[in-house]
Amino acid sequence: MPPNFLSQLTGSFAMPASENPTVAMMEAAYRHHGLDWRYINCEVSPENLGDAVRGARAMGWAGFNCSIPHKVAVIDHLDGLGQSAAIMQAVNTVVRRGDKLIGENTDGKGFVQALREVIDPSGRAVVVFGAGGAARAVGTELALAGVGKITVVNRNPDRGRTLCDLLNDNTPATAEHVVWNDAYAIPASADVAINATSVGLYPDVDGRLDIALDSLRPGLVVADGIHSPPKTNLIRDAEGRGCVTLDGLGMLVNQGVIALRFWTGIDVDATVMRRAVEEVLQQP
Ligand code: NDP
Repeated sequence: MPPNFLSQLTGSFAMPASENPTVAMMEAAYRHHGLDWRYINCEVSPENLGDAVRGARAMGWAGFNCSIPHKVAVIDHLDGLGQSAAIMQAVNTVVRRGDKLIGENTDGKGFVQALREVIDPSGRAVVVFGAGGAARAVGTELALAGVGKITVVNRNPDRGRTLCDLLNDNTPATAEHVVWNDAYAIPASADVAINATSVGLYPDVDGRLDIALDSLRPGLVVADGIHSPPKTNLIRDAEGRGCVTLDGLGMLVNQGVIALRFWTGIDVDATVMRRAVEEVLQQP
């Protein structure tokens, strides 16, 4: 067989792009599984997004991730959406299927996969802090995974209500909004609490959610969407009070695993990816 010098291409379009560690874990997975695939981290401005997508099409890319600020705007350049991306109207993974580019959202799927390792979401009551893109992704996938009740705790009431309306109108779950204007006590009926705000994200490493610490009770599952640093104050506080914790690296790695399944059809080794991203973030 003649040698093949043509790699399969995938990558990411975002702005800024230089702080995004995803390339390290994706390429580690390609190497580990002996795949002649590449993941190219590209800085793409909003005005160049259309050209970038047309370029990916022209070059036969197998797919690409979209991050801030393109998750909504990219939809105009695609041929269709998967189920949860259509509900959320946000895309973080584009998959080439035949000659079509289809938008999917793996942010929430990655979280639910990490959650399933510690608790079955079916019928559970969940508190989601935040109502932005990450909360929308996590809330939608939790609802589609069978969660019974979702309490959205957010400062901005309009954003909180909009997310609850979206969940109540499009999924079987019941969602209610709580305006977050003082220390929030996680109810004893909650099984899971997740930080989907940007509190704690580098460089705001001392940031702390405004919650009543004594409502972090043993056995409660506490998850943080923040992956940099993975050991946030929320994770520390929850560990100290006997909660079951899930850091944001699990979500990041799992959404990458799901994207790679969409693109390559292979179930890649999540441990290899986690190690690669921990190495670049220099976390033990
Ligand atoms: P958005 O800007 O869309 O939303 C930010 C949310 O955080 C809003 O609900 C905002 O509340 C809330 N918020 C910000 N500051 C505070 C504060 N001091 N106190 C209380 N609430 C606050 O961001 P995204 O939803 O896109 O992203 C949120 C985080 O999720 C990011 O840090 C990102 O890194 C992380 N993320 C992680 C992923 C992973 O794979 N681990 C995947 C995707 C995102 P308000 O509406 O009241 O302003």
